[in-house]
Amino acid sequence: MQITEALKWAVSQLSDSDSAGIDARILLCTVIDKPQTYLFTWPEHELSANEKARFEALVRQRADGQPVAYLTGTRAFWSLTLHVSPTTLIPRPETELLVEQALARLPVGQARVCDLGTGTGAIALAIASERPDVAVTGVDRVADAVELARRNARYNHIENAVFAHSHWFDSLTGQTFSMIVSNPPYVEQNSHYLAEGDVRFEPASALTAGADGLDDIRYIIAQAPAHLKSDGWLLLEHGYNQAQSVQALLQQQGFHDITTVNDLAGQPRVTLGRRGER
Ligand code: GLN
Repeated sequence: MQITEALKWAVSQLSDSDSAGIDARILLCTVIDKPQTYLFTWPEHELSANEKARFEALVRQRADGQPVAYLTGTRAFWSLTLHVSPTTLIPRPETELLVEQALARLPVGQARVCDLGTGTGAIALAIASERPDVAVTGVDRVADAVELARRNARYNHIENAVFAHSHWFDSLTGQTFSMIVSNPPYVEQNSHYLAEGDVRFEPASALTAGADGLDDIRYIIAQAPAHLKSDGWLLLEHGYNQAQSVQALLQQQGFHDITTVNDLAGQPRVTLGRRGER
């Protein structure tokens, strides 16, 4: 079977996916261990029997709904390649907005940044990779996620990010930061969105937070002032319909310079503010 035929076959199997073509190319590149340009340069390259069998098995699992990132084991985020596992959320492109907004506000010179619920370490590592002078601490309540984030730091040669086992601020007593960032769980517990697509395979602990999805965001906003330096920033990713609630919560806790930023799809996605006087 040639590359062109293999891709055509895969797309026909993945007709339920709105990303059939790209899914097929990513899976084939994983099997033949080549970059995507290879597929266009050598469309007549003949797959070995072993490659064909492995490709067919992956396409079948994708047709059953398995996320591509769990099948390949990695996902691109920012300029990094991150290992993923079913114990954490798969990094999303919209979360790069949070990284951008964080980088734009980080003070010049040394500073400490905290990433709450770091998962794969995506946000912490992206910030650390852009700002070698900044010390980033990522925490997660899931021990496997902490291990995964450390592995991703080593894999991407990032030395200014450390990871610790902690439920939100529990293990950070007495520590203060110039900036706290988080992409916490924010989906409503009974959302029918949870029954569709890739999220069916991701851990509920990384996705849902109570009836209105705001339980963890409320907790983080209430606890954050004690861990922020004066005028320090808090940046939170949230659902498309949660900006007003998040802004109100920040106001209640005395934050100022509160702003919401839209993602590339035009949805309110990140809300941020600065710690006020206590
Ligand atoms: N943005 C994710 C989604 O739409 C949800 C991630 C989260 O809850 N932090 O699937």
